[in-house]
Amino acid sequence: VTELNVFEGLELDRVADSRRRDPEWIRARREDPAARAVVAGSAGVRVAGERLELVPLAEAVATAAGGPEVLLGLDAAGPVWAVDEDPPPGPAERPGMIGAGGRRGEPAPRAEGRTDLRAAGLVLERSDAGLAAYAAGLLNWHRRTRRCANCGSEVASHEGGLSLHCPVCGAQHHPRTDPVVIMLVTAADHVLLGRQPTWPEGRFSCLAGFVGPGESLEEAVVREVGEEAGVAVGRPEYVSSQPWPFPASLMIGFMAPWTEGEPGGSDDELADLRWFSRDEVEAATGPQSDDWLAGEDASRLLLPPRMAIARRLIERWLG
Ligand SMILES: [Zn+2]
Repeated sequence: VTELNVFEGLELDRVADSRRRDPEWIRARREDPAARAVVAGSAGVRVAGERLELVPLAEAVATAAGGPEVLLGLDAAGPVWAVDEDPPPGPAERPGMIGAGGRRGEPAPRAEGRTDLRAAGLVLERSDAGLAAYAAGLLNWHRRTRRCANCGSEVASHEGGLSLHCPVCGAQHHPRTDPVVIMLVTAADHVLLGRQPTWPEGRFSCLAGFVGPGESLEEAVVREVGEEAGVAVGRPEYVSSQPWPFPASLMIGFMAPWTEGEPGGSDDELADLRWFSRDEVEAATGPQSDDWLAGEDASRLLLPPRMAIARRLIERWLG
């Protein structure tokens, strides 16, 4: 049995079918007294304890500052929307991303009854964590996509906010998901792990990188390992994937068997790169902080936090 990754396991009918193209159907879902909303803003998503707080839609809209409303789908109790509670960004403003925290995983500023997405992934029930990732992903896309990429006109919400339509040139815009390959390079009883410059001493993780246009996932794995580590790997084996809403990635996990070369990166993305033995990795699996940036003891290997697919790849290798 394969355990799900954090942010997987959303239990919601996304209604990704023709009903969304019927404005009357969308309107009825909006006027449904049972309609509720995930409320999110730069301070995070609204929570009540270990649950996402679903606010009656009318109340969520009344207290929001005019941000977009997106129909996420239907659950057993009725329609579920997402509402951005912050004022829309100004025309030349680069909007902040909901729930993302810092670029390298530092926690977002805390606000009462709100949580950033990293904390949501750790604390919330599985389906709620998935719902938080879905809502924030769509709202962040709306924050960044206010004009048509084709002609520059203002776009209008379409399909309940699941796409955007340009009223001038007719272009349709769909939410973006950026594929990232993440791979554990293995050689008999050792694995190759890297440390990013912003991480504390001792923190190591799998290699990873964005997939390029015209490139297969397997080709991206081989290229990234070559660029970051200077070693060659054989045919990568797919393991599982993880939605990673920081802000719009999909992490696609692989095992990559080393074939030749000594580690030594040609680019400067990594501060350190090392083979670790099974014993060293095994010894590092004990309790440790879920904060990527928390340094505990520089002399000791720190594995990636449990919510990350990188950790799952390492634990899979340990068996
Ligand atoms: Zn246009």
